[in-house]
Amino acid sequence: MKIHEYQGKEILRKFGVATPRGKACFSVDEAVKAAGELGGKVWVVKAQIHAGGRGKGGGVKVAKSMDEVRQYAGQILGMQLKTHQTGPEGQKVRRLLIEEGADIKKELYVGMVVDRVTQKVCLMASSEGGMDIEEVAAHTPEKIHKVFVDPAAGLKDAEADDVARKIGVPEASVPQARSVLQGLYKAFWETDASLAEINPLILTGDGKVIALDAKMNFDSNALFRHEDIVAMRDLDEEDPAEIEASKYDLSYISLDGNIGCLVNGAGLAMATMDTIKLFGAEPANFLDVGGGATTEKVTEAFKLMLGNPKVKGILVNIFGGIMRCDTIATGVVAAAKEVHLSVPLVVRMRGTNEDIGKQILKDSGLPIISASDMADAAQKIVAAVSGK
Ligand code: ADP
Ligand code: MG
Repeated sequence: MKIHEYQGKEILRKFGVATPRGKACFSVDEAVKAAGELGGKVWVVKAQIHAGGRGKGGGVKVAKSMDEVRQYAGQILGMQLKTHQTGPEGQKVRRLLIEEGADIKKELYVGMVVDRVTQKVCLMASSEGGMDIEEVAAHTPEKIHKVFVDPAAGLKDAEADDVARKIGVPEASVPQARSVLQGLYKAFWETDASLAEINPLILTGDGKVIALDAKMNFDSNALFRHEDIVAMRDLDEEDPAEIEASKYDLSYISLDGNIGCLVNGAGLAMATMDTIKLFGAEPANFLDVGGGATTEKVTEAFKLMLGNPKVKGILVNIFGGIMRCDTIATGVVAAAKEVHLSVPLVVRMRGTNEDIGKQILKDSGLPIISASDMADAAQKIVAAVSGK
């Protein structure tokens, strides 16, 4: 699950990380009022969407008067903000963060992710913060310093200080950088984050270390123990199909292709998508109906896939282990009838009650194309979709 920058900063503040003062706003009037309350002479008007790269896309603007605050808030609120993370259609801006302007001397980068290989939290830091960290990673990876944090000890003083010095924090500011890094680690750990990123972390003219941006993602399997974080969820920022899927406990991810896939098991779903690509087409989604899918769940899965106007065909790939093939077949037939299926449907099923399942499909009278194995199934759906 993702949250907005202003929410990420709220969390970081609780863990002792310094951030500029600011306020989330939903209208231009609120933005002007917030700037007045913050005081000072320079404010930053920041689009709040669940994507980075806002600065380059025109979603972050420095205002030097109340008139400019009003002008920029009016421009940004409601705009369709396009960044390298939003996709070509962009994302509509519905919230703003009005923040006091910071005196930036240097922009640094710090981020944390879970490293699956070492099974530790990996802290990454760089002197090259700001808007182009992806470029730094691609072209000058030696400028990114990593620490794999021992979960029993946490981020040690010496580790934090060492990294701070490597990214160019001057000696007098090292203790502050240490508390930012340790605060970030604690925030990451205690909220079950999967990613936490401060880009830029800045050094100010008077030697302060401040988080100017905040991005946090959370492990959805741990959200049951973080009511406060769940409350930060903003459904406007999420894919409607994925929200609908989560209501039925379906693991669904929208993709760009035109072949819908309905599969049981995440690994088989991945392999199915690979096989579709191998035969020259693109999957429209990842969909794992899970081990205990009911007819209702399968019907909902079909509705989801067909709700996507790009879908020109559907491939059902089932391994009947715990899930019995006849249950899936019943679900597929019921769903196909309920949604008046109008695109080609290829079904490949193997395992428990396979024969009964195939008979159910046959007896349905629906134009379902049966396939013997994965390659056969993928080739048949690719052919059907391309009209061959
Ligand atoms: P994004 O990463 O989505 O582009 P950021 O929050 O990192 O958005 O903002 C982009 C840039 O805008 C920052 O690198 C920084 O230079 C500037 N900026 C952001 N917030 C402030 C602030 N409070 N004061 C001064 N400059 C800011
Ligand atoms: Mg940023």
